[in-house]
Amino acid sequence: MIEALVDQGVDAFRVNMSHGTKDDHAQRIALIREVETSRGSPVGILADLQGPKIRIGSFSEAAVLVETGSEFVLDDQNSPGNSHRVELPHPELFGAINVGDEILLNDGRVRLVAKEVSPGRIVCDVRVGGELSAAKGVNVPGTVLPIRAMTDKDRRDLDFALSSAVDWIGLSFVQTPEDVAEARKIIAGRAGLLAKIEKPSAIKWLEEITSLSDGIMVARGDLGVELPLELVPGLQKKIVAEARDQGKPVVVATQMLESMIESPTPTRAEVSDVATAVYDGADAVMLSAESAVGKFPREAVAMMDRIIRQAETEPTYRALRSSWRPEVENTTADAISAAAKQVAESIGAAAIVTYTTTGSTALRAARQRPTVPLIVITTRRGTGRRLALLSGAHSVHTSDTRDFDDMVEKACRIAVHDGIAVENDQLVITAGVPFGTPGATNILRVARVPRIKR
Ligand code: PGA
Ligand code: MN
Repeated sequence: MIEALVDQGVDAFRVNMSHGTKDDHAQRIALIREVETSRGSPVGILADLQGPKIRIGSFSEAAVLVETGSEFVLDDQNSPGNSHRVELPHPELFGAINVGDEILLNDGRVRLVAKEVSPGRIVCDVRVGGELSAAKGVNVPGTVLPIRAMTDKDRRDLDFALSSAVDWIGLSFVQTPEDVAEARKIIAGRAGLLAKIEKPSAIKWLEEITSLSDGIMVARGDLGVELPLELVPGLQKKIVAEARDQGKPVVVATQMLESMIESPTPTRAEVSDVATAVYDGADAVMLSAESAVGKFPREAVAMMDRIIRQAETEPTYRALRSSWRPEVENTTADAISAAAKQVAESIGAAAIVTYTTTGSTALRAARQRPTVPLIVITTRRGTGRRLALLSGAHSVHTSDTRDFDDMVEKACRIAVHDGIAVENDQLVITAGVPFGTPGATNILRVARVPRIKR
């Protein structure tokens, strides 16, 4: 199935550490790498840490019904709950919740408001009742909780993920820039850090969090529980715009083709949602249950691929894309990236080709949102894999480039071989000379593609 999904257009896979065992994950990672080798194009792997998901304790029955208008107590008693109380096995929360705070259980289906707070006991009014069962999630949207973004389980999962050479680490329930800084120190450049924006506090610190991360995710699932649902579309646009502005890849996630869990065709609204993410300027769109446990994973990926490709050819999209003009920063790499876009569009080049070691030049080039494809050539396998998330970029891993002629020849050969250019097309190539020095992009070369056998 992984092979089929790659063939249908998957660029990157998420390994969700909230589910499954290390053995499951290790096996899937190995399979993805096997398929990657057989297909010859870099595939990204995102290991998504569960984060401090707060959960209630257990009940004496399989499920209980909490009545609207009744009282419900969250306490520190380690005993099975009933329709009037349940354990909240997170001692640090008792001091953080205040009278008047809203507490949401089971993805917001049950809504409580705290009315009496004492050590180890929170008495709540049930505003909206419903069914509860063991270990359902707890959200407290209005409060910055005194918990770190990484639990002990996350640290163990992170060690595992880094030793499995994944390309991205997803950080769940980030609340503050400090959460990101802490994770960043541990990851120490061994993978890209993707901060999931799913808490009101993360929206408040959006600019700082984006700047400390290598990429971000519009995590609409939890965002829509923590905040009124009708705020999510506007926030999606705001978060995507911030990432675009800073030149960081941004993923839009959750319920994109939700009905395809059960049905081979999506709703019109879902098709429109995926296209909207493209129009907003997202770098990547993500499937969750649709491909993880759904009945039609292949169809969901194929559908998504078609929606993206169509949106990208629409004149409206191209006009939007050219209207995003991020400010050019005063670095050589940025100036050359901006020039590359301008030259490529003026002469109608078939592509921009960027030689990059760490990937930073490719990110700056993509930030300019050129309307021609971006071919990224890198000697580092990990760079190509990480850039799999980048919009409009096609990464190729090759051996070292010997000299200037070799650089031009290689760019032309790759562009033709991968079906992006034909004989007589022009390419705009950027690179750093001397070759192999990271962070030294300093040349822009226009080349005409010679006759090459495919
Ligand atoms: P999750 O994150 O699927 O890990 O919860 C995405 C989201 O909340 O939308
Ligand atoms: Mn989430």
